[in-house]
Amino acid sequence: MSASKIEWTEVTWNPTTGCDRISSGCDNCYALTLAKRLKAMEISLVAKGKLDAGKAKYQNDGDPRTSGPGFGVAVHHDVLIEPLHWRKPRMVFVNSMSDLGHARVERGFLESVFAVMGVARQHTFQVLTKRPGRVAKLLSDSSFRERMAESMPFEDGNGGDDVFDWLAVNASWPLPNVWMGTSIESDEYCWRADELRKTPAAVRFLSLEPLLGPLPSLNLEGIDWVIVGGESGPKARPMHPQWASDIRDQCADSGVPLFFKQWGGRTPKENGRHLDGEIWDQYPLRQQ
Ligand code: SF4
Repeated sequence: MSASKIEWTEVTWNPTTGCDRISSGCDNCYALTLAKRLKAMEISLVAKGKLDAGKAKYQNDGDPRTSGPGFGVAVHHDVLIEPLHWRKPRMVFVNSMSDLGHARVERGFLESVFAVMGVARQHTFQVLTKRPGRVAKLLSDSSFRERMAESMPFEDGNGGDDVFDWLAVNASWPLPNVWMGTSIESDEYCWRADELRKTPAAVRFLSLEPLLGPLPSLNLEGIDWVIVGGESGPKARPMHPQWASDIRDQCADSGVPLFFKQWGGRTPKENGRHLDGEIWDQYPLRQQ
């Protein structure tokens, strides 16, 4: 678990790391840049004997055309059960350093991730993907839910039997403490919201960040929460105020809560987070 600077969550949990760029919203992926630094840091810590080489998470290089050093897709079985040990209820962003929907994250591992989220019901998990089609198909498949209990990463005699029974018999579906979201950066990707609508989920949310253009095709039907944000960093692309105001108006008309994260700029805080003079810190109404 790491405390997060992301305004709409509390902590991050990364059972997978690494990814490949798939659309213009990925052009300045912060995770890709950070992975390169983390790879170098891990190498230094291992050399100094301060990190067990087996625990290094960013040593798998990705395809240089779409990914980068330390950003190859990797799964981390050793962190799977971490949320079960966090007693205080938390809002958990799943995979700030990856995309759970990536084709190279195997279905069996995804079943384990959902099994842990189902058992750790003191927490609220936020899963965000740019690959909502694969996620919709998997979560709509009844065998996914059925296999979750078997995929729970416990060993026999380690409390696993109770958890197995609870998951198999009592866990409701979709999991009430898991929010599923997709990112949309420009109008040509509004279809991702259609895939999200097909996804069984207690809460469905859209992250319109980095917002790179107006979204005239945006349909908020079946959407429970919208996050809007501009891009940050040295190569930040500007967000036009009208694009954000239009989405705010659409959210108000549709009764969808809005979280306006930031305007963006060289740093996330550079241009503040007021939209037409107000802070928009709304959350989904269907919170547990
Ligand atoms: S999908 Fe997300 S994690 Fe993957 S490259 Fe794009 S922005 Fe980065």
